Amino acid sequence: MDWSRWPNFSAGEFRCSHTGKDGMDPAFMDRLQSLRTQYGKPMIITSGYRDPSHPIEARKASPGAHASGRAADIAVRGGNALQVIELALALGFTGFGVNQKGGSRFIHLDDLPNDTGRPRPWIWSY
Ligand SMILES: [Zn+2]
Repeated sequence: MDWSRWPNFSAGEFRCSHTGKDGMDPAFMDRLQSLRTQYGKPMIITSGYRDPSHPIEARKASPGAHASGRAADIAVRGGNALQVIELALALGFTGFGVNQKGGSRFIHLDDLPNDTGRPRPWIWSY
């Protein structure tokens, strides 16, 4: 994959921490780059692709959005977190996971389609 297409991101930020595999979906990355461009501030990615064998995915009944390469967790808090959600909703992201407690606050974003068993857009907390 040609990562020069997403100038604010690098392959290493999105690799599976368990297998080292690069499995991001190019259309998801295009959407994320649009978000990053509009946001205009650095974005710290704490989780990108997760192989189905990654311990977090392996615990689930079936692998989640990260295993499809269509999800990222962004370390962001407070007003910045709200701004990320606002921009992401307008850009067509459909999954919003909110962790805004304690020391490792983040927002999960994905763009899975409606046919994954629940209506989207959808928001949840951890
Ligand atoms: Zn996530």
